[in-house]
Amino acid sequence: MHRIRLIVGGVAALAAVAAFGVAPFAPDIADQPVTRVTQAVSLPELAVHEEAAPTSYIQEVRVAKGDTIASLMERLGVQDAAAVAFTGRDAVARELLKLRPGKTVSASTDEDGELLWLRAMLSADEPNARMLFIERRDDGTLQARQVVEAYERRVVMRSASIQSSLFAAADAAQIPDAITQQMVDLLSGDIDFYNDLRRGDSFEVVYEQLALPSGEVVRSGQLLAIRFINAGRKHQALWFDADGPAGHKGAFYAFDGRSLKKAFLKTPVEFTRISSGFGNRNHPIFGYSHRHTGIDFAAPSGTGVRAASDGTVEFAGWQRGYGNTVIIRHAGVHSTLYAHLSGFARGLKKGQRVTQGDIIGFVGSTGNSTGPHLHYELHVNGAPVNPQTAILPDAQPIAANLMPAFRAHAGEMGRRLALAGGREYAQAE
Ligand SMILES: [Zn+2]
Repeated sequence: MHRIRLIVGGVAALAAVAAFGVAPFAPDIADQPVTRVTQAVSLPELAVHEEAAPTSYIQEVRVAKGDTIASLMERLGVQDAAAVAFTGRDAVARELLKLRPGKTVSASTDEDGELLWLRAMLSADEPNARMLFIERRDDGTLQARQVVEAYERRVVMRSASIQSSLFAAADAAQIPDAITQQMVDLLSGDIDFYNDLRRGDSFEVVYEQLALPSGEVVRSGQLLAIRFINAGRKHQALWFDADGPAGHKGAFYAFDGRSLKKAFLKTPVEFTRISSGFGNRNHPIFGYSHRHTGIDFAAPSGTGVRAASDGTVEFAGWQRGYGNTVIIRHAGVHSTLYAHLSGFARGLKKGQRVTQGDIIGFVGSTGNSTGPHLHYELHVNGAPVNPQTAILPDAQPIAANLMPAFRAHAGEMGRRLALAGGREYAQAE
């Protein structure tokens, strides 16, 4: 046994401490809310998280337009008719129905889908949160209560090693889906998450969490930094906002200050738990050619299809051969087309503004299609081009006058990633 000092951001479950890595106390991050935990740790525990079969599952989802308690519970992985009935009937629990689309709800279930707890922030008037808790009591009955508590922003570091799927690795390291999705969005231009993941790939993430003093996590916030090792190649990025943590100008950059903001998503389908395993290789994915003027993404029916870039809906309806189709016009000369959809996002109509990443429809097999997939086209001045090779507008790198602040921030994030991975600190590249 070795007596080692661990540094964790905030008060985290001690069971997860091994995932934070071990390092000598670094004075330059002492301004962060840090809890020092002195604990005897045996060396084998210092390995990164291996996947273990969990006995409870935590899901975090956003409320969608038109959600019912049943549809929300279903997305949370809750297969518990009694819990759905309780939530619809209990005056306190019913407040869940007042949540607006986009708000976050998280829930824990056991392996049979029975609800263990559910929590949602009903309103946030910084620094206070009005929270709804639904909990299972010792006698097995459910109870709902509302609590007003002050919350704090804290920084969490996690590391994970992929054994079967990205989401299984994220679960084992207690990384919420919202963070995993941000990670996929950020790196999907460099890593094909459907086909390129390898057993033994690993990653470290640093992200924000809003938490109550009790340790209850209100929701996860911004992904702040990531290092992802895929097939031996390192990909890393960090979030930087010149106006500080409360600013609204943040974007992802490489550690050298190059902007990683993508004008167009490379993968305009949601990356889901279902589609995230290895070996989805027998799907017919056709590359771009003069006969096939788009790219196909094989994905399960019902998978969300996302607007590749900001724009305006130009068409949402049926087109011969293409089946249910959405066309979005973007700034400048670009438009994108999404075909074979099983259906459209609720209320989607011509003239509607969409933001990059918005769900516009769902993967299906309508029109001339042999199986569920998204057929995606990118048009320049009305003519299709290959989205995989098209030169698309790039965002600006860090301005010279902001470079000193950026470098200081990049240095700190590099140290945090190293801490998360339990590696020795090395100058970030
Ligand atoms: Zn196609």
